[in-house]
Amino acid sequence: MPYSLFLLRYSLFNIPFPFLHSESKSTNFVPTSHYLKKFAKKIEIDRSRLRRFLTKVENNPPTLLDVYADQIDKEVWKEVHCLECSNCCRVMTPTFTFQDLKRISTHLRMSISAFKEKWLYKNKEGEWMNRSQPCQFLDLKTNMCNIYAVRPADCAGFPHLTKKKMVEYIHVHKQNVQYCPATVTMVEKMMNLIKNV
Ligand code: SF4
Ligand code: SF4
Repeated sequence: MPYSLFLLRYSLFNIPFPFLHSESKSTNFVPTSHYLKKFAKKIEIDRSRLRRFLTKVENNPPTLLDVYADQIDKEVWKEVHCLECSNCCRVMTPTFTFQDLKRISTHLRMSISAFKEKWLYKNKEGEWMNRSQPCQFLDLKTNMCNIYAVRPADCAGFPHLTKKKMVEYIHVHKQNVQYCPATVTMVEKMMNLIKNV
């Protein structure tokens, strides 16, 4: 299950998770350290409130939840710029499927076994994950992914804001509010929308 790839395993906050990059460019660039410190402070205050809201939605989903999710997703990416953040690549790990392993190791001109040996470990569920964070492919100066064109599907889909049915992914969003500003923005917009409909 692709998004479950987001099962945290280590991390800054002692909880794990994966992710991806948007190619969007920010017009007001804020240094990553400042951006992430600000986010950490915010989430410390807001985390419980956001998770309580998600639990309510999970228990009693609005009929138009998936329609709302599509609408909100577009708004989120006008405001959130992954190149200012890269938190998912810093504190989470993607799950590498066989197709990912084949594509990335070919790109790097390595064998799959050499790739695994160099960077990955197999978790209890038998999934291949990064051994350490930040991800070895993250350029820490630019926040860009060095294998962007062939990155894991997990990374490409993160943070799964439009996964259908959304209600089945709420448990993932509940975890991701800890790490992902885009997820937090989505939840806040969802709170406003549901309050106003
Ligand atoms: S906003 Fe979310 S998806 Fe984008 S880089 Fe940050 S943690 Fe990753
Ligand atoms: S492969 Fe790229 S997108 Fe995925 S976690 Fe690593 S740096 Fe981020």
